[in-house]
Amino acid sequence: MYDPLALAAETEKLVVRGDERKYYRFRAARFYGGIATADCVGCCLKCAFCWAWNKVANPSGAGNFYGPNQVAHKITAIAKKHNFHRARLSGNEPTIARSHLVSLLERLPRDITFILETNGILLGHERDYAQALGPFPNLHVRVSIKGCSEDEFSQITGAEPQAFGLQLKALEHLLEAGVRSHPAVVVSFSDNRSVDSLKERLHRLHPDFSDFEAEEIFLNPAIEKRLDRRGLQLT
Ligand code: SF4
Repeated sequence: MYDPLALAAETEKLVVRGDERKYYRFRAARFYGGIATADCVGCCLKCAFCWAWNKVANPSGAGNFYGPNQVAHKITAIAKKHNFHRARLSGNEPTIARSHLVSLLERLPRDITFILETNGILLGHERDYAQALGPFPNLHVRVSIKGCSEDEFSQITGAEPQAFGLQLKALEHLLEAGVRSHPAVVVSFSDNRSVDSLKERLHRLHPDFSDFEAEEIFLNPAIEKRLDRRGLQLT
């Protein structure tokens, strides 16, 4: 088992250089009805179902460094070319590289809605990180919660179970900071009782959160092997 905060600090050393961070791809994606997407490198979790596993497992061997100006330019150009009104960072975990992310948000046009997809670990740990996202009215944060309980989280990610609470704390910090957000939950390994229990916990944070987005898992042979190794079965 590992501490995701310690892994975040180690990963940051590999994927952040000054205000630059590593990315491995810039693309137009079909999600959200069409969205300009920059795929970053480096994460603080090791989810068994991760579709970008090679970047998570080997951040030093993947991608190139880009500054916030370059990323803003690339995202804006993709959005204009495809007439998209949304942009996002995806791939691995965008919140690693805080100053890069905030600088990028400062440079994006306000008529582009920016969807920050995060596992919530760092936003749950650092209240002031959520506060730093407050000034951006075009920002919406999607917190992807791995499993419905501490034990499920640990089985899915291989991380210490208590870090599950940081994902819920992220939503609390974002609410306090006045940042629009919603939870998405990986429920593929959870029974109804476990899902109901998480719904209650989320409802206590905000009534809207109990009606969460269920996150889809995409399988391939490598992912199936990792699920087997962790004793995970789809419900
Ligand atoms: S949080 Fe996302 S990028 Fe990180 S390991 Fe899990 S699925 Fe992969």
